[in-house]
Amino acid sequence: MPARYLAVPREQKCIGCRLCSLAASRYENRMLGIKGSPITVKGKPTMYKIQIDYGKVIKNIDKIVSICPQNCFDIVSS
Ligand code: SF4
Repeated sequence: MPARYLAVPREQKCIGCRLCSLAASRYENRMLGIKGSPITVKGKPTMYKIQIDYGKVIKNIDKIVSICPQNCFDIVSS
């Protein structure tokens, strides 16, 4: 079975809501808040940068993709 990864090809659409960071924290670390999340959102309106920590395994990528209100994420297979 090919590996599946989270990608963010539409980063320019990001509104900085950080739902992706919160969801990743909740689903991957079983924690509330964005501290330690495998997804980090930085920047300011119209210039947000999404950083995904590929050193950590993100198992619930479908939930991350679906929670983004701007459809910034995709799932890629290798
Ligand atoms: S959920 Fe989407 S819009 Fe919100 S911060 Fe993450 S990438 Fe940006």
